[in-house]
Amino acid sequence: MHLKALVLTEKEHMEIRQIPEKPLRDHEIRVRIKYVGICGTDKHLYSGQPGSAEANPPIVLGHEMSGVITELGQAVKSDFKVGDRVTIDPNIYCGRCAYCQNNQPQLCENMEAVGVTRDGGMSEYVDVPETNIYKIPDSLSFKAAAMAEPVSCVVHGLDLLEIRPHHTALVVGDGFIGQIFTEILANRGLKKVAVSGRNPKKVNLLKKIGADEVFNPQKVNHDEKYDLVIECVGVKMTQELAISFARRGGQVLMFGVSNPAETIQVSAYDIFFKELTIKGAFINPYAMPDAIQILANRTCDVERLITHEFKLTDVPDILAGHINEKITKAVINME
Ligand SMILES: [Zn+2]
Ligand SMILES: [Zn+2]
Repeated sequence: MHLKALVLTEKEHMEIRQIPEKPLRDHEIRVRIKYVGICGTDKHLYSGQPGSAEANPPIVLGHEMSGVITELGQAVKSDFKVGDRVTIDPNIYCGRCAYCQNNQPQLCENMEAVGVTRDGGMSEYVDVPETNIYKIPDSLSFKAAAMAEPVSCVVHGLDLLEIRPHHTALVVGDGFIGQIFTEILANRGLKKVAVSGRNPKKVNLLKKIGADEVFNPQKVNHDEKYDLVIECVGVKMTQELAISFARRGGQVLMFGVSNPAETIQVSAYDIFFKELTIKGAFINPYAMPDAIQILANRTCDVERLITHEFKLTDVPDILAGHINEKITKAVINME
């Protein structure tokens, strides 16, 4: 038996291959993929940069997945059944390093990740440990359920902040992640949720999902300050901007993934005088159940944020930047 998969064979080169099916490992579950998301991390991995871990080609990418269980390993103890509709947490922690044992598995020294260090969801089937599988409610579409991973990363980011109803928040960045933060924060009933972004075409959508205000910091002189500032772009300019928008006592969340070689300028006096908290958020520990619930109850109605749906064969062109359209978020239909 063979299965069809899109393989990153080397840096910046992908091809569809028929891969021989491996025997299913005892504690793993085989899932027929229905939808898989394409994310900024895939672009980093494609161009040879690290994601949540280093990728070593040949590898099948895809870490935002939904599908149906087709086979259970012999030693699987959870109550999963063949036919269950599921989503997958791609991050696999060792459980024995100092970080895992200190309740910080996201910092695991031996991290593995589906679609990063082991074959992922841009494939007909994926095998994952039973600990990484989550059932989804019937009301949740496969397309939305594939977004549980990015939403779970947002949940972790929000878990790191102390959020109060009277707070005001600024989301820096109008992309997919910025939109998820905006919608969830708006639904928490904060006093104000503002978004800074550059694309005028996104203003209507951002307002529809709950933004009280959208502004382009390059065009308007905006001097309001915020209790919470969430950076979702990952470049020097927006990171410095995010810190400058924090009011005294404010909390800044660095969520966007930057180039590891990039540095930013911050005034240490500002951190001191404003008593700023600046935090990083890395991946999604313990956040999948909340993410699934947020999708299921439409606290984040994620399908309207997905701008493109492609086939597996389109992916090499997308990652190589050969598609001219502006993609905010793309998913691959594997059905
Ligand atoms: Zn991702
Ligand atoms: Zn560990």
